[in-house]
Parts: sequence; structure tokens; C-alpha cells
Amino acid sequence: MLSDSHAHLTLEHFDPDRDQVIARARAAGIERLVTVSSFIGDALACAELAARHEFLYFTAGVHPHEAKNWTPEVAQSIRQAAARPKAVAIGEIGLDYHYDFSPREDQRRVFREQIALARDLRLPIVIHTREAWDDTLLILREERAAGIGGVFHCFSGGRDEAARCLDLGFHLSFAGPLTFKNAGNLAEAAVFAPIDRLLCETDAPYLSPHPYRGKRNEPARVVHVVEKLATLKGLSPVHVGEATTRNLDRVFRIS
Ligand SMILES: [Zn+2]
Ligand SMILES: [Zn+2]
Repeated sequence: MLSDSHAHLTLEHFDPDRDQVIARARAAGIERLVTVSSFIGDALACAELAARHEFLYFTAGVHPHEAKNWTPEVAQSIRQAAARPKAVAIGEIGLDYHYDFSPREDQRRVFREQIALARDLRLPIVIHTREAWDDTLLILREERAAGIGGVFHCFSGGRDEAARCLDLGFHLSFAGPLTFKNAGNLAEAAVFAPIDRLLCETDAPYLSPHPYRGKRNEPARVVHVVEKLATLKGLSPVHVGEATTRNLDRVFRIS
């Protein structure tokens, strides 16, 4: 039993063969697949895709890259998408100080607004944070997001950051970088965090795991992340696949 907690199946990268990619995910043993909305207008497309495949779920939200384009109408469209069947979270939301595609002030304001939206809709959140640990954790504390819960997607910190996220009640989702040779800090975090707080993801089409690094990623490759996590934890891949899928169901309230 496997699950991919985070993929972007609506992106144009999958236009030529989306159905085959989804079929390969199923054939690889994936029983839960969450297609995550990122840009404005994506959430409804995610909802429609999820409606067509039994094992697919989706999130509604706006990526920090797009924070500068946030308007009340965008907020309303997220609300509408989140009311559709199989909406499991608000995401991906957060702060990206690496690219700074939106002014940081906008990113922080839109992150707060979407946390408030999640609270209102009683949905957990999927967090994207890059080179912004202090502000991300500060905002989560100030917005009392511990009561909302959710996932740090493509977790990129070390043991200290893992401890801070876990203390706030969040789960950590590991992606392809865990399989890279230079994954030292990340591997330490994976060893440190309890298995009942971990998820696995691809972030497809990005971040292909070793040995596919640099190629278009797809959900079927989550197995490489699961295998690496199993090795680090001294557990069997079957155990890790089942545990991370159970965790996904619990965080996203899928039964
Ligand atoms: Zn992300
Ligand atoms: Zn993503």
C-alpha cells in the first residue's frame, strides 16, 4: 500500500499522457493520491480531476509565488473549490524566500488569510516553506494553526526544524530529495521524526527521486522515497508504505 501526498497532476507537463500517468500510479500500488493546487484557477481543475478517479483527492489554495495576485475573488474561488467533494486541505500555502516571486509582505498576508480560510472551512493545511523557517513558524503560532493541523510538504529542514514542526502538531512529508546523495540533514530529520507523523510524496512533475533525478517526475516513483525512508528507519518498505498511507488518511480525514 502506497500513497503520494502531493503531486501537481493538472500542470501542462502531464497534458500529453495524464491518464496513463494516473493508471501507472494505480498499477504501482498507490491507493491515495492528492493532487495539489498551486496557481490561481488550479483548484477547480484539481476538483474536476479528482472527481474522475476514485483514489484521487485534491487541495485548494494559492502558492506563495502567486501571493501578489491574491484578491477577494480569488479567495472566493478557493472557497468554492474547497466545497467540492474530495477536497482534503487548503494548500499549498506558505512562504518562499528563495525565489521571492511575490513581495514577502504579500506572501505573509496571503499565508495568514489562507490559514484563516482553512480554520473557517475546518480543513487542514499543506505548507510550502523555503528559506523562511522563522517567519513560517511564527505565523503558524500567531494564527494558532496547531488547532488546524496539516503537513509540511517536501520537508527540507534538519532535525531542529523537524522538532519545531512536530511540536506544533504538524506532519512532515518527504519527497525525492531524501533519496539524493547529499541528503545528510534531511536524513537525520527522517530518522528523528516518529513514523506516525510522516508522509511520502513526489511533488510531481518536480523533484524526481534518484535514479531519475532531473527527469519529469510522476506519482509511481513515490516508491523510491518510501524505500529510502524504510532504509533510514530500519523498517520494511511495506511497513512504511502502510504507515504513511494511514497517516495521510488521518491528516486529511479520509476514511
Ligand atoms: Zn511546494
Ligand atoms: Zn507542490
